[in-house]
Amino acid sequence: MRYLALLAALLLLFLPGPASAQTHHRLIVVLDPGHGGYGPDMSYTGAIDNGLEEKVLTLQVAKRAARDLRAMGYAVNLTRTRDQAVNWPPRDLNHDGTIDQLDDYNARTLFANRHHADIFVSIHFDAAEGAPFIHGTHGYYCPARPFWRQSKRLAATITAALAASLTHSGYSSPDAGVQTDVADKVPQRFPNYPWFFVLGPSWPKRITGSAMPGALIESLYLTSTSDATALKRSGTIAAIARGYAEGIRAYFHGHTMS
Ligand SMILES: [Zn+2]
Repeated sequence: MRYLALLAALLLLFLPGPASAQTHHRLIVVLDPGHGGYGPDMSYTGAIDNGLEEKVLTLQVAKRAARDLRAMGYAVNLTRTRDQAVNWPPRDLNHDGTIDQLDDYNARTLFANRHHADIFVSIHFDAAEGAPFIHGTHGYYCPARPFWRQSKRLAATITAALAASLTHSGYSSPDAGVQTDVADKVPQRFPNYPWFFVLGPSWPKRITGSAMPGALIESLYLTSTSDATALKRSGTIAAIARGYAEGIRAYFHGHTMS
């Protein structure tokens, strides 16, 4: 009986009460390396130019940013850790009767929801066909979500930190700021759903929205002569990853950027 009492006391000691659960809750970041794998269209590879592939770079950045963030004390989960679709093996996740690119977007938001992420960050590189002079970094958020203010601030802290980190690495690249996903110049697939699928609200039989603030960042243009040259230099990927990590830390510390 004495042993039982001792055991109960020990259990009480180690069971997390509400207070300790609060103190020990590690903030959870889900990083989403854009694109990945092989599919019928460019959406799997992302942009390709100047000998660079977007899906390869996004994964490099995500893995390195994850390392930086874990060293800062955050819990990090990646939607993919290799060159493959996130919806793998392929499933009809949105129950619309077909397995397509929409299911891959669903796989990303469902992953973030399943991991109870505090924030969701989708990592991309940009492209502007026929405009090699367009360069820089900008962030997107969805204005149609209840947590849009946090999403906007998240996009802003990351783009600002990215620009600072790139400058620090020796490549000055403009922070083109933050805009809504609706303002993106590339037309979305459905006219009545003008948002990015990984950021927008739920739409039955199409997409399940993420349950937490999110941002999609496009750092540097693969079509830009100067950005592509910088991306081939050792240190630039690490600088971008560092930018993501520091921007996320600034967000959690409550910083605001204009
Ligand atoms: Zn992309």
